[in-house]
Amino acid sequence: AGVVTIDVLREWLTRFRDAVTEQREWLTELDSAIGDADHGANMARGMGAAVEKVVQAAPEKVDALLKTTGMALVSSVGGASGPLYGTFFLRAGASAGPVSELDGPALAAALRAGLGGVVDRGKAEPGDKTLIDALLPAVDAFEVGLASGDEELAASARRAADAAAAGRDATLDLVARKGRASYLGERSVGHLDPGAASTTLMFETLADAIAE
Ligand code: ADP
Ligand code: MG
Ligand code: MG
Repeated sequence: AGVVTIDVLREWLTRFRDAVTEQREWLTELDSAIGDADHGANMARGMGAAVEKVVQAAPEKVDALLKTTGMALVSSVGGASGPLYGTFFLRAGASAGPVSELDGPALAAALRAGLGGVVDRGKAEPGDKTLIDALLPAVDAFEVGLASGDEELAASARRAADAAAAGRDATLDLVARKGRASYLGERSVGHLDPGAASTTLMFETLADAIAE
């Protein structure tokens, strides 16, 4: 039971911006091991631009809020993560529609639609060592929490964040099959995927914003 208001979603985006900014060096360090050492900078710049646009445009409906976020990510980040996260928010917004709050099933549908956008765009499968390995288990766990019936939305969001973190940790042993890290082949084993790490921050901050 429970709803997520547009104010909570705005708070989520701000907290996600703060988290990727605070964890910028860690995200970049992960990307320096199996990529090109820019994931922290990409996410901090992208979410910085997104929150700035949201403050300027002051959208009053959830679709506009998430669309503004997605457009800012796509236009401010050159790397793979810009279009992927951008598509996530654009699709989530389209699913949510012109409403001022989301109940659990509507939020689940938006997150599921966002995941679908990332899959359409990046063509990664589970186990390819990408952000999908955190995003998919998180969306699944959120739905499982809701389906259990008596669970509060906040508890389902925390469950999703925990699933994202477990998915992120499981990327350690995977061979990268998509993105820059795939150029390393077997040598990508033993490193966490940077995108799975930032996606975990996205779900942890969602759970935090809902819990407040
Ligand atoms: P770039 O690789 O262009 O420098 P970033 O470093 O910002 O971009 O983002 C890298 C992250 O993007 C990877 O860690 C991975 O999680 C994610 N990624 C890359 N390619 C794909 C893809 N095809 N599908 C899903 N995620 C991907
Ligand atoms: Mg990179
Ligand atoms: Mg790059």
